[in-house]
Amino acid sequence: YMNQTTILITGGAGFIGSNFILYFLETYPKYRIVNLDKLTYAGNLDNLREVEHHPRYTFVQGDICDRELVESLFREHDIRGVIHFAAESHVDNSIKEPDIFVRTNVHGTFTLLDVAKAHWLEAPHKLKRGYENCRFHHISTDEVYGTLGETGYFTEETPYAPNSPYSASKASSDLFVRSYFHTYGLPVVTTNCSNNYGPKQHPEKLIPTIIRKALAGEPIPIYGNGQNVRDWLYVLDHCRAVDIVFHQGRVGETYNIGGRNERRNIDIATKICAILDEIALEHRPSAHASYRDLIQFVTDRPGHDWRYAIDPAKIERELGWRAEVTFEDGLRKTVEWYLKNGKR
Ligand code: NAD
Repeated sequence: YMNQTTILITGGAGFIGSNFILYFLETYPKYRIVNLDKLTYAGNLDNLREVEHHPRYTFVQGDICDRELVESLFREHDIRGVIHFAAESHVDNSIKEPDIFVRTNVHGTFTLLDVAKAHWLEAPHKLKRGYENCRFHHISTDEVYGTLGETGYFTEETPYAPNSPYSASKASSDLFVRSYFHTYGLPVVTTNCSNNYGPKQHPEKLIPTIIRKALAGEPIPIYGNGQNVRDWLYVLDHCRAVDIVFHQGRVGETYNIGGRNERRNIDIATKICAILDEIALEHRPSAHASYRDLIQFVTDRPGHDWRYAIDPAKIERELGWRAEVTFEDGLRKTVEWYLKNGKR
């Protein structure tokens, strides 16, 4: 394994991290991967069954806040890159239980940064060769920018204005990443991505909830009047964007990732119902009904951001990335995956 480089991936048993690990192992024979994941309620090793015994893959169950563990992984595997997905990620949970979001998202990110700095930039490691190519890639969200009205887009210059404890914790972690570049010269990049969808997303999130409730014949809950707008990106398009930024992004920069694909929540629900009407006839509430009849509006989430929309011009222009999967195709693949793997 002399010319293989080991990358630490955190949160790899979650939705995006697991899709990314499969993609990365397949794309790059030169990398070994260490996946550090605490396996909270959101982590699921079933997401990684395909690579469980892969020769270039190692799973470690543990907490990113555990400094000794993180240090020992850096030493033992001589980590040369970090791609940091691990986080508490559900806005509704952050409203009920904000403290765990501060712990994992802020203190966990800080711990990883501080260990990377010690290992890559401080003696005796700095005397070794090759550390100049190290990379710390922080995965973040467009929610740090707060909310938009009917018009406008988030760019990398939009001031941070987080509105939920989740987005406040992510915003805070982004700023620590930034400070480790400006203060210590740690080679960091940050990406802020819009809403992801696709296979292996936790059932608590919007699209899996719509599919799950529909198939169970239960009311499909939609917050408020369903008019809130999100920009949706298929998870594999996000993985490709992370790959490109990790390898080619300019150190110290942030890149917004989005699909140029704005949808109102209610339109997502009706679209999924239309797909299910076509391919899941047997679960329909009754022979003449549509899954659409199950949609029910429920009391809005407090502080619910009205609209998110990303302007991905920078990553498109500088790095040539562009979302490739259409919403039609992506949603269909997602619905089909949940039909097949609903019980996972
Ligand atoms: P997820 O909730 O599906 O997965 C998170 C993973 O992190 C889980 O496997 C969990 O076990 C692990 N984890 C949590 N706390 C940990 C800790 N203290 N130590 C080690 N592991 C821990 O989340 P996701 O949707 O895959 O999101 C991944 C990242 O992408 C997050 O940083 C999130 O903020 C960001 N993001 C997500 C979206 C989205 O739409 N899902 C959009 C933009 C950015």
